[in-house]
Amino acid sequence: MLSNRQLFLLNNAQTSSTPRLLEIERAEGLYLYDSSGKAYLDLVSGFAVSNIGHRHPKVIEAIQNQLDKYLHVTVYGEYVQAPQVRFAEKLVSVLPPSLNSVYFVNSGAEATEGALKLAKRFTGRSEIISCKNAYHGSTHGALSVMGNEYYKEAYRPLLPDVDFVEFNSLPDLQKITGKTACVILETIQGEAGVRVPSADYMKALRKKCDETGTLLILDEIQTGFGRTGKLVAFEHYGIVPDILLLAKGMGGGMPIGAFIANRDVMAVLADNPILGHITTFGGHPVCCAAGLATLEVILGENLMNGIAEKEELFRKLLVHPLIKEVRGKGLMLSIQLDSFQQVETASKLCTDRGLLIDWFLHCDTALRIAPPLTIGEEEIRSACNIILEVLSNL
Ligand code: PLP
Repeated sequence: MLSNRQLFLLNNAQTSSTPRLLEIERAEGLYLYDSSGKAYLDLVSGFAVSNIGHRHPKVIEAIQNQLDKYLHVTVYGEYVQAPQVRFAEKLVSVLPPSLNSVYFVNSGAEATEGALKLAKRFTGRSEIISCKNAYHGSTHGALSVMGNEYYKEAYRPLLPDVDFVEFNSLPDLQKITGKTACVILETIQGEAGVRVPSADYMKALRKKCDETGTLLILDEIQTGFGRTGKLVAFEHYGIVPDILLLAKGMGGGMPIGAFIANRDVMAVLADNPILGHITTFGGHPVCCAAGLATLEVILGENLMNGIAEKEELFRKLLVHPLIKEVRGKGLMLSIQLDSFQQVETASKLCTDRGLLIDWFLHCDTALRIAPPLTIGEEEIRSACNIILEVLSNL
């Protein structure tokens, strides 16, 4: 009989020649457990998803309650489903007042797709501006605004009329004109290796979009739900986007995303043509119930309190001759090393010692640190000890 690992390689589509092949038996809080019972402290959070930890009891309870009522009942936007209504109401209540209309989808890439369509339809323009080294998902539209030719070349032709600017470059903002439908930007770039823009840049970007009638789409798929110490990272900058993208941490481990805009903007999806964006499963009731519970946990358990101190502790401890720089904000950090070989070996050795770390799609010379927000001082200290020991053994 073939093992699960062999079957995984045989029947499950592979996306690289070097999958991690960790066989997960269960996950709880800050830890994943493999089939031998070995525990792994999670500094990746399933790629910025498990912000409130794995299988938070409130999320499990919300899911179980909804399981007893109904699962899928119809396509998005037709029946009144309490989990969708209550989750949207809660989201709107904690976001700036202009972001008052929530379109639920299943993933980050779908949120990107919906937002790009909305911006084109609302402005009547086709030009889209994105950033070099950006990552907004892997579907065709999202791939079109990815800022890394390596991943795009084989799939061309992609969307026309897409232009790229340097992230955090004030001079490049001149490229935004009256022809630009939207600028799409990660508030803090994730897959670029965690790049934090300046407040001046974010303010100038907002101003330029206002002057040119361009919609500003902020992708908070990775930065959202408390990861940087604020519910959404644009709160650090005192600006508000026209369209906000959420996913990843939104569902407490369940698949859900959203694009959120003003009611007046969103209204164009319901008119000429109607059904401007369609999804069967978007806003699945179980995922919305989990999402609402997740948001209530983040707010009710004050999970954003102390994130800055946790960042500080990581920065204080992560000092080593091989570490060139620690970048990021809150618990979205990257440790810059010299080479991919160092990163790959360090990541493997950390896994052997029961610590999960990773790297970035567009920056494979830096290690990714994105633990659940619930990580405590003791775990941060033991994680950093392992990282430093491993670096010393490279
Ligand atoms: N946008 C950002 C900033 C992301 O980091 C990701 C995923 O890593 C996405 C969009 C795409 O999300 P998904 O994988 O759910 O499609």
